[in-house]
Amino acid sequence: MNQRPSWLFYKTDNGIPQLLSKALNQEQFKEVPETHRNDQWNLYWRGSGFTLSDYKNVKTWQILNHFPKGNTITRKDSLARCLKRMRMVHGTIFNFFPVSFNLPNDYTKFLSYFSKIQSKKGKQVWICKPSDLSRGRGIFLFDNISDLLYDGSTVVQRYIEDPYLIGGYKFDLRLYAVVTSYHPLRIYLHQDGLVRFSTEKYAGSVIHNKFAHLTNTSINRNGPNYNVEKERVGAGCKWSISQLRAYFQQCSVDDRLAWERIKHMISLTILMQANSIPESAKQCIELYGFDIILDKKLKPWLLEVNFTPALGNDCSADVAVKLPMLVDLLTLAKQKITLPRPVTDHRRKNNNLSRQAVILKEEQNLLELLIRQTKELSVLRRDKADQSKMMKSIARHEKLRKKCRMLFEKKSQDQEQDPEERQEDLNHFDDVFRNRFIMDPAETERMKAIERRVTKIPDIKKTGSIIDQNSKSHTETDSVISNRCSTVSSIRSQRAQIRSHSSSSFRNNIASYPQVANSEYKVGGFFLTFPISNNTQTYSKGATDIAKSVTEIRNSLRISETNFKFMPAENRQLHERTTVNWNVMSGFKQT
Ligand code: ADP
Repeated sequence: MNQRPSWLFYKTDNGIPQLLSKALNQEQFKEVPETHRNDQWNLYWRGSGFTLSDYKNVKTWQILNHFPKGNTITRKDSLARCLKRMRMVHGTIFNFFPVSFNLPNDYTKFLSYFSKIQSKKGKQVWICKPSDLSRGRGIFLFDNISDLLYDGSTVVQRYIEDPYLIGGYKFDLRLYAVVTSYHPLRIYLHQDGLVRFSTEKYAGSVIHNKFAHLTNTSINRNGPNYNVEKERVGAGCKWSISQLRAYFQQCSVDDRLAWERIKHMISLTILMQANSIPESAKQCIELYGFDIILDKKLKPWLLEVNFTPALGNDCSADVAVKLPMLVDLLTLAKQKITLPRPVTDHRRKNNNLSRQAVILKEEQNLLELLIRQTKELSVLRRDKADQSKMMKSIARHEKLRKKCRMLFEKKSQDQEQDPEERQEDLNHFDDVFRNRFIMDPAETERMKAIERRVTKIPDIKKTGSIIDQNSKSHTETDSVISNRCSTVSSIRSQRAQIRSHSSSSFRNNIASYPQVANSEYKVGGFFLTFPISNNTQTYSKGATDIAKSVTEIRNSLRISETNFKFMPAENRQLHERTTVNWNVMSGFKQT
């Protein structure tokens, strides 16, 4: 792990919520002083999206808290539209979103569906929600078409009439997912979250009581029963997810499949917009708030996805859940800051920043040369050029490689990188540039001998071929290499991608899939969700079906395996660990 300098700097436009400010302080982020130059900050936190020029000018030591085009799923109408399309193409795997219609466009479709369902099943309850409002504003229930009055873009949705109740009260879940990268897609789901109760007992037939049907805190906080001790629920209207899990455990309710489904539902929803996020958006992170309701069979239904979910502090559950979640989010963000220019003191600041910039430029130039040289060498090899030409080319390559390596070393020293990690990076660098020569086993020894003669560098330890030597053509490999090595500093972040690239037979040979370091699975309370899991032993058949369909969807969206982190079969451990964490939490048991 990089040793980070003691302070990083954040900037914001309109102030930030108190809990976030606490988390920032805890994670050693200071608000950027006005005296700092324009680019001397590490995190830019905004409630709304960024401009194109913000994305264009972001530096490797900076993180923005939104992805460009990362909000398709966060508007009610576009979420409904996308999920409907996905359900039409991929079928029942997308059956986690209540049937919805976008008005006014789908009004006629809605009318015919409404009357068809009514004639089949009798009176049905629907919920009407303005597309661009939040916190329960403008929402109402109706079962009579004449009560449907709307103004502007609106979503009408089948109402989940049989929610799971606790003490007779309806609740929904707020879960926090963080996307640290869309290419490859990496989604972290926080193990804790909030359970938000309505404050009056649920009575399906009385549809106009918002304190019984809506679970928004902003509504229930103003209800007459907010401070009253409610059966099972207690006073207020919020629990943490850990309290809920403890409650389920106490009542011997097996909720494991529900959580597995929730994980897949979140992965699928985010996956849906992965293709529209520009690949160049590397320096971004996004926190999504997923609102989910459980029906009486514990089947989860997605209600909506929130862009910049509320970080307010209403009660102790908010502090218990949001503060650690934000601290973990900042930990994830910090891992993406590759050039640390948190300026610790005035004396070092200017020197260091310009030094870093010079090194980065130099490094990029050198790498470009090195890649060009590598390609040249590979063409010579392919054309079986004569030995003296080859040796000259190898010598040039080796000279460049050494220079590059030295610069790389210098930079990691500058960054006060952990020696072990530095060594690992250097080994990786060597692997990438030396394995280029190992194309086919018959020639390997000859090439190595030439190399040794020319360079007198001790033979490298082969830790496993990174590039799939048999299946990749020269040009393919070249482009992989040049993509991969656009800067030396990107090598580490792309390592996993390289590995999965090499595992073309992944599904047939799970055991050979390279292990990902444990630390990558879990960052604080966040754990990586895997769109494909092999938890057949742990879960009932349902989860395997979901996993299979996710593979199909991924294929049809043409998202390559490279864009995912897969979960090896042995990774049940991960599940166990998170389950243990969930179960260990106190809350309910202690009260
Ligand atoms: P908002 O963004 O205004 O909070 P939501 O879609 O989250 O809008 O809906 C607000 C509340 O209404 C939810 O917290 C939930 O309690 C209830 N609700 C929304 N949609 C449904 C539904 N389809 N079935 C049952 N309850 C729903």
